[in-house]
Amino acid sequence: MKKLVSAGEILVEIMAERIGQSFLEPGPLVGPFPSGAPAIFIGQAAALGQPAGLIGAVGKDDFGRLNIDRLRALGADVSAIAVYEGHATGTAFVTYRPDASRQFVFNIRNSAAGLLEMNDAAKRLLDGADHVHVMGSSLFSERATEVALAAIAAVKAKGGTVSFDPNIRREILQASGMRQALDQVLAQTDVFLPSGNELFLFSSAADERSAVGELLERGISCIVLKKGADGAAYHDRRGMVALPGFAVEEVDPTGAGDCFGAAFVSFWLRGAAPADALRIANACGALAVTRKGPMEGIHRLADVEAFIAKAGAHA
Ligand code: ATP
Ligand code: MG
Repeated sequence: MKKLVSAGEILVEIMAERIGQSFLEPGPLVGPFPSGAPAIFIGQAAALGQPAGLIGAVGKDDFGRLNIDRLRALGADVSAIAVYEGHATGTAFVTYRPDASRQFVFNIRNSAAGLLEMNDAAKRLLDGADHVHVMGSSLFSERATEVALAAIAAVKAKGGTVSFDPNIRREILQASGMRQALDQVLAQTDVFLPSGNELFLFSSAADERSAVGELLERGISCIVLKKGADGAAYHDRRGMVALPGFAVEEVDPTGAGDCFGAAFVSFWLRGAAPADALRIANACGALAVTRKGPMEGIHRLADVEAFIAKAGAHA
């Protein structure tokens, strides 16, 4: 089976307990939960049985250990996660606004994650990789961007493939050169996985159909649009497939896009038909939102299949 690798931020997430809770005064918090978009992605891919590894950096502290233990338990290759003494693992504090939008306070660049580098362990992991997944949020510094671009170059040199989720987090992506970095990744992307308005950051077209058409012309093999509770749509040069979302009670939306992407890419790598990959991805995205904490809703393949079968029986 093909091995997939991602590189980027490993964090713990700490969440305000109440909707609309302000960070300007003390209030109840829940967590720490293991997190970081590429970590969620790799954890979910591993849970589906895909060989998957992460290039990352944590501090020599309990937050780092929480993340490594969780990824290992899910079956991920953690050999390229560096542990730095004297540096703290990254953190993300999140509070949900009444309109369902989120406010984040990140500490990434100045945490152990800021030390991310293409070291020997990372090179070894890439030696055995067939596919690289890039999260836009992982391009949080020049150094992190260099790692992502080097990972792409390493798999492309062997005929491997690339997927890209813009996963725009305004709070992280203020670094200069960001725009150029996002475009550089997109130019090398086979599978593009934007959500919401992210599609329009990469196209001058005003409507979805034209934007998708323009990006396919530029050489992207397929585009998968994530649409939250409404499901997702797949586009390639031959046509499109759209599937509605599974009906679930949303407890915490963070991580849905990462779990969705991991499932789609894993099944795309296995050569599944687009509709089949989309169905599994929709199921993993839906299951992800049913638990508080971005990685708590990761399910193994047998459980995802049982969820789909049950939903089918009720449809
Ligand atoms: P993230 O917050 O992780 O960045 P995203 O914005 O990248 O998420 P979404 O479109 O919110 O991505 O979610 C990804 C996928 O998860 C959706 O396409 C859908 O399949 C599933 N999903 C998300 N929210 C729900 C929901 N409330 N009910 C059912 N499925 C959902
Ligand atoms: Mg996202």
